[in-house]
Amino acid sequence: MEKEKKVVTLAYGCQMSERDAETLKQITRQEGYTSSDDLASADLVIINTCCVRESAENKILGKIGELKRLKEKNPNLKIAISGCMVQQPGALEKLQKRAPHIDIWTGTHNLHEFSALLHKAEQGEKAAEVWKEPQKTLESTPLAEKGKLQANVNIMYGCNNFCSYCIVPHVRGRERSRKPEEIIQEIKDLVASGCREVTLLGQNVNSYGKEFSPQYDFADLLRDVDQIPGLLRVRFITSHPKDLSDKLISVVASGEKLCEHFHLPIQSGSNFILERMNRKYTREYYLSRISKIRELLPQASLTTDIIVGFPGESETDFEQTLEIMNLIQYSHAFTFMYSKRSGTLAADMEDQISLDIKKRRLQRLMSVQNAQSLEWRQRMLGKTYEILVEGPSKTNLERFTGRTRGNELVVFKGNADIIGSLVNIQITEAATWTLVGEIVNPEM
Ligand code: SAH
Ligand code: SF4
Repeated sequence: MEKEKKVVTLAYGCQMSERDAETLKQITRQEGYTSSDDLASADLVIINTCCVRESAENKILGKIGELKRLKEKNPNLKIAISGCMVQQPGALEKLQKRAPHIDIWTGTHNLHEFSALLHKAEQGEKAAEVWKEPQKTLESTPLAEKGKLQANVNIMYGCNNFCSYCIVPHVRGRERSRKPEEIIQEIKDLVASGCREVTLLGQNVNSYGKEFSPQYDFADLLRDVDQIPGLLRVRFITSHPKDLSDKLISVVASGEKLCEHFHLPIQSGSNFILERMNRKYTREYYLSRISKIRELLPQASLTTDIIVGFPGESETDFEQTLEIMNLIQYSHAFTFMYSKRSGTLAADMEDQISLDIKKRRLQRLMSVQNAQSLEWRQRMLGKTYEILVEGPSKTNLERFTGRTRGNELVVFKGNADIIGSLVNIQITEAATWTLVGEIVNPEM
């Protein structure tokens, strides 16, 4: 009998990178590999990469270096590097030179062709392929992994926005929306396999379906997904503020399974910086979107992404970011120091900000956000929330974890029978990142 082949898949970066890693895992399964977490006994290691910030790239390069030692111990090991980092123009040659121990290189656009590259590597050859353009038939890639409580579902690929700091449009191509019937069928199949929560993924979900005729937009898709029997919750990321329509907010407000959580990256509170970032909205417009959400969905959670130290950001610009955060009060914020990405417009801008200033601003931003996250959670004390029970806590196996509709993490005493169901939990303790609570009505 042939020895069982094992694959370890690692993903860096956003949910889309995780979703791509899942696709690769599914392809290797079709090729007879079983997935595993144990690097030491692996026959194949795949790293799906991210290049959105230099820090991500450095981490990945470190990991690629580590794998060299693993390969020295196990010369039969095959290593594949895939995704955004490899897709950057001119990156493949540099990476190949730097890491000759890698067997397979593939970009984002030809992931679905991974089997062919794998066959080549299994024959002892080096395999490298990066397509300049994305594939035409979106539906041919393997679908999300079945049998899990939560699943990420791609509804579109690529981005047309070209924010001046961002590499994503350069490595993911132009916007392409999947057909609604394909998405809905995928979700129905996931539900039949036990899935209860889906997160619809796109770089800017609000521009879903722009190319469709007759008209069918993201709000229409949400309304249809909300009707899928057996599904308990629907989430979506990411919403670009410029395209967040009143229709979408009211569909979320009237939906049953549509979670009241908007991840609405603001990036900066200064109009001068927003303009230089090519974000195509002003702080006033952004605030008007927040007012609309609060009007129709007073209980909605808001999260955001913020960049400090964008070229030309003065102390006053930065203060405006802190000020708008205080006005809005996010439940959580992902905060980043600007990272120069070659090939983007901002990389060539003058007035690049020193690392020292960026670090100082990031510290201040984080301390303001941490205080707000804590206050946000303290306001939840004593109140009861619907939680989807996910499973035992990683740090305390007697405790279970789940999330509110607003995506806040809650820890509570429970049992394995309630995994995958909705329970009502009253919040008894609040910290910056987590909440502790007690089940109010186990029947629910
Ligand atoms: N499409 C999504 C997110 C894409 S990348 C959106 O538009 O919101 C996720 C986040 O990374 C961005 O929102 C931004 O805050 C951050 N980011 C992107 N490029 C960056 C860069 N060059 N330096 C620092 N942060 C960056
Ligand atoms: Fe990058 Fe802007 Fe597109 Fe988001 S919307 S992926 S930040 S270019």
